[in-house]
Amino acid sequence: MSIILDNVSYVYGQNEGYIKQALKDINLVIGKNEFIGLIGHTGSGKSTMTQILNGLLVPTTGNMYFEGLDTKEKNFNKKELRQKVGLVFQYPEHQLFETTVFKDVCFGPKNMGLSQKECELRAFEALTMVGFDSELFYQSPFELSGGQKRRVAIAGVMAMKPEYIVLDEPTAGLDVIARDELLEMLRDFIEKDEERSILISSHISSDLETLCDDLYMIHQGKVIMHEDTDVLLSDYALLKVDEEEYSKLDRQYILRTKKESYGYSCLTNQKQYYAENYPQMAIEKGNIDEVITMMIR
Ligand code: ADP
Ligand code: MG
Repeated sequence: MSIILDNVSYVYGQNEGYIKQALKDINLVIGKNEFIGLIGHTGSGKSTMTQILNGLLVPTTGNMYFEGLDTKEKNFNKKELRQKVGLVFQYPEHQLFETTVFKDVCFGPKNMGLSQKECELRAFEALTMVGFDSELFYQSPFELSGGQKRRVAIAGVMAMKPEYIVLDEPTAGLDVIARDELLEMLRDFIEKDEERSILISSHISSDLETLCDDLYMIHQGKVIMHEDTDVLLSDYALLKVDEEEYSKLDRQYILRTKKESYGYSCLTNQKQYYAENYPQMAIEKGNIDEVITMMIR
């Protein structure tokens, strides 16, 4: 089963007398036990997309299918969608509101109608899973550091045991160690249960390239690239060529070209082809940031 975005567009402001197109013709699939990365600069549409995935926003055009059901159908169960697709907001402050951390994490399970005992058990489990210090369980969530708040927000979602977790820029504002811990924890979470899937957005590609199976890059509301991470790392490269080499270059597998002082830098998704046919050529294994920069051009 899966979540499918089928040609989804989203426009803000239609009822307020302005139009801001935030997403355009998005196609995306989250299957079972997948770890999906969404990379894009600020304003590219990441938060809009994550809110569509858990039903907070409804596509202006196009459809979202959840476990085979059209979410725009009249009798589609939206409450169930929000429980099965847990969303961790970009700003944890938007998610925390109870007087203590523990109560906050109990909120989701309580809302699902679980017994007090079950809620507390789940809150305890979830806070432990995110590595939250038990001495702070009864502290106000608003007195915590940014990193701790984020852990609580994530625990609050995990406590509902959703099948999909969508995290909107969860590593923003964290130092390198906290970031690695968080990413490690998410990996554990998905490995514990084959039914679970995660989508995580970030503007930092290094977060995602080591973690995700599948990467989507968005720019100005459009998916400009969707690729298996393995393929991206093994088959994409930058060819650095001078004018003469460029004139002789077979350009059928060149995705983008950029003028440089020495000639051209060319992005390909067929590194092996060029390595075999142009053994003298300078071929650099581009990192994901370079690939994005080229794709945006
Ligand atoms: P990201 O999370 O990648 O920074 P967003 O999804 O927040 O991107 O925003 C996508 C685009 O939609 C941006 O141009 C942003 O200014 C615009 N936008 C976001 N929220 C609103 C809103 N409530 N009203 C109008 N425009 C919005
Ligand atoms: Mg955002």
